[in-house]
Formats: sequence, C-alpha cells, structure tokens
Amino acid sequence: MPVLDMNDDVLKESLHDLYEQAPCGYIFTLPDGTLIRVNQTFLDWTGYARDELDSRHLQDLLPAPGKMFYENQFVPLLFMQGAVHEVALDIIRQDGTRLPVLINSVLRVDAEGRPQWVASTVFAATDRRAYERELLLARTQAEHLAEVVTASSDAIITGSVDGAVQRWNISAERLLQYSPEAFLGLRLREILPLGGDDEYERIVDSLRAGEPLHMETVAVRCDGEHIDVSVSITPHTDDLGAVSSLSAIIRDISERRALERLQKEFLAMASHELRTPLAAIQGHAQLMQRRGAYSALGTETIITQSRQLARLVDDLLLASQIDADRLQLRLDELDVVAAAREATGHIVREGAAIRVDAPSRPVMIRADRQRLGQVFGNLLTNAVKYSADASEIAVRITDGEDQVRIEVVDHGIGIGQDDIPHLFTRFYRVGDVAGDIQGTGLGLYITRRIVEGHGGTITVHSEVGRGSTFTLTLPMSKNALP
Ligand code: ADP
Repeated sequence: MPVLDMNDDVLKESLHDLYEQAPCGYIFTLPDGTLIRVNQTFLDWTGYARDELDSRHLQDLLPAPGKMFYENQFVPLLFMQGAVHEVALDIIRQDGTRLPVLINSVLRVDAEGRPQWVASTVFAATDRRAYERELLLARTQAEHLAEVVTASSDAIITGSVDGAVQRWNISAERLLQYSPEAFLGLRLREILPLGGDDEYERIVDSLRAGEPLHMETVAVRCDGEHIDVSVSITPHTDDLGAVSSLSAIIRDISERRALERLQKEFLAMASHELRTPLAAIQGHAQLMQRRGAYSALGTETIITQSRQLARLVDDLLLASQIDADRLQLRLDELDVVAAAREATGHIVREGAAIRVDAPSRPVMIRADRQRLGQVFGNLLTNAVKYSADASEIAVRITDGEDQVRIEVVDHGIGIGQDDIPHLFTRFYRVGDVAGDIQGTGLGLYITRRIVEGHGGTITVHSEVGRGSTFTLTLPMSKNALP
C-alpha cells in the first residue's frame, strides 16, 4: 500500500470532510462533560448551531432520567474501564424532540493516567428503536394470545401436520381428561376420529391443501367416552407456504345437544298431551250431537279435559315467559297455611287424603297468590302421580325467625340420585318413568323459578322406592321482597 503524505492539504481537507460529514456523530468532551467539539452530522441531527453548544455539557442535552444515568452509571464506568459501548440514550434536540441514539465513548488519559478528554461516536437509533418497539409489541401480542389460549374455555390443541399432538391448554385436559404426560404421545386422530377412515383421509387431504375445517362431530375422551363437540381445525403454513402444523379448537356442545334432544322429545310429548284431551272433547261432543241428547258423562269429560288442556297451555306460556326472563309476580300479604289447605282441596285423589301439618295460626308471607297456588299444585300433583293410590302424602309447614319452611312429602317411587341434579331443568323427565305417566317435564322448572322469584329456595331429598320430600323456604312477610 503506498504511504499517504499526511502533509498533503488535499488529504487533510478530505479527512476533515470525512469527519464532519460521517454517517455518525462525533462528540469530544472534557471529563466533566463540557462539549469541546462536535461534528456537522451531530449538529444536523440535533438542529443546534455550533455556537449554541459552546460551553454546554453533554448531560444538559439529556432528559432527566438520562442525565441521572449518565452521571451515576455512564461516567463512573467510563473512568473505570476506559471505554463504554452501545449505551442507549435520548438526546434532546433543539426543537425539544428526542433523538434516540447509541453512544460509544473512549476516555483519553495523559502519560500520568489523568483523564484528558472523552471521544464519543453517536449512532442514530430511531430505526433500531422502532424495530425494538415492534419486536416488543409482537412479543406482548403473542403473550396476550397465549393468555387467551390458556384461559379459553374451549379446548385448544396444536399438532404437527401428520397429527402428532404438540401443545394443548388446560381446557383440553379438562374436556378430554388426559394427563399432560398422556397428551404428549397422542395423535389428533385418537381424539377426533372425524367419522371413520375414508372421511378422515379426505379431511386430512383438504387440511394439507390449506383449507380450514369446521364441523360438529364427536371427540373421544381418555376413558373412551364420546362427547358431542364442534371442531375448527386451522392449517398453519411456513415461510414457503407449505402446511407445517394444525391447531384444533374443540368446544363441548353436549349440553346443547342434550337440550335439543329434550326439546325434540318435548315436542313429541306435547303434541300427544294436547291431542289426547282434544280427542276426548271432540269425541264426546260429537256423540252428544249425533244422539241429540245431553250426557252427564260427556259434559263432565269435556270440562275436565278442557281444564287439562288449559293447564298445559298455561304451563307452556309460563315457561316461555320464564325463558325470556319475563315472569311477573303480583305480591300480596297472604297466609301460606290457608294457601296450602286450599291447594290440597283442589287435588283429586283416590284413597287417602292429603294431610296438612301446620301451625293453627296464620303464617304470613308476601307472595303471588296464583303462582304460589301453582307451586303447591305442581308439587302435590307430582306427589300423587308418582305414588301408589293409598300411600301417605303430607304438607308440613313450620315457621321460623326469618323464613317459612314447607315440605311436600310422599312415599312414592322416589327419584334416583343421578336424576336429582336435572329435575329442575325444563323438559327433564326421569327416563324409565316418563313413558308410563303423563307429564311435560315443565312443572318443576316452573316451580323453581316461581319460588326463586319470591326470594326462596327449593331442594329435594329422595330415595328410589321410598319416596321424595320437596322442601321450600320462603321469606316471612317482614323479610320478603318489597
Ligand atoms: P312432569 O310433568 O313430567 O311431572 P315435572 O317437571 O313436574 O314434570 O317433574 C319432572 C320429573 O321429575 C318427572 O317426570 C318425574 O320423573 C320426576 N318427579 C317429580 N316429582 C316427583 C315425585 N314426587 N316422585 C317421583 N318422581 C318425581
């Protein structure tokens, strides 16, 4: 390499230009931070005129936290190590805006090791900061997404494109009942058979082609139990556009399916329940018309069957009001003992009468007279329907400090423990009884909503073959709802 003549004026000028116009700022300061020289690039970036920086300190160009950092960390480190690299700071420009920079500083010392001056290079870090911010934002978003996945009530499972399960959330463990260890060795196919071999292959082909899948199907739990689910499987592609992984969102729809089944059964049952009394009414009316004669039996049947029909229609209307949260109660002061006696009087029963054990004085509550009558009516009708003719049925009323307790006790067929939690669901009827005894499965649903509408509670204690006790509590008048 030919040696440059450092006395050459042209060369000196070029070096000077290189220094002034460099793609970075140069700053020279005394050890206390007094600015002694800066290059043109630094002036261009910050907007200061050269003389504006005369006898200013570098730390004067930093915002308060930066100034503290400079004095307490940067300078001591510089004095200790002789150099500091890539420190991120903000410099306040002449117009007050901030310039994010990275500073590298070197301390010059004299022969005795005394600090003389500090030379710093300054790189603009606006792009780098923006990039860092984007990275941070992306990380925060990914963290939020991960939180959503963890907290989701849907099961979420990701797997490789050949179906090996890789990750899953807590809801997946809950829904499918696999332990984390068991999950790892699983294949998606074991959880989602997706309608058999041919169908599965067809689905996998379209997923590999990048098409997402939405379907209602069954998922298989760890214990082999099948659950009704809706599934969305999304294929994810890599940078080259090839499908590299799959994620499945699995939602438990078994409750919805159970309700749909109940509703279907209800429709079949309701049309039967409506048709039977209608046929009886029609039959007897036609018979009287044909004979041209009044019949006491015919009239009696027409009246009782019309009542039955009216009750059914009332129940259906009331249930739909309750479903729409539009149950309205007209509250009055009333004696619950008298209401119970009146209700038992309406119950037609072969064999033994219904006993009422209650205080001889009135027990006052605030209630909707008609709806309370319905509550007694439903519980007593059930007690009669689900008991042998002569078995004992009783209503027991006890009043306490704050509430009155009403028990409707029968010694009938009883209810299995598995059925008890579902009794108050609309349309629910105990399977092996429902076929033989008429009913809609609406009575207890309506009863519970009316009782709760009064601020009360209803529970049931029952044993199959021994009988059932439905227990209500209602607030006493002074504690009642306004
Ligand atoms: P239903 O019109 O079918 O009687 P309910 O809602 O009143 O409807 O009752 C729901 C189901 O609960 C009934 O179908 C019956 O299987 C069961 N059930 C209700 N009360 C009794 C009772 N006292 N004894 C035995 N089973 C009962």
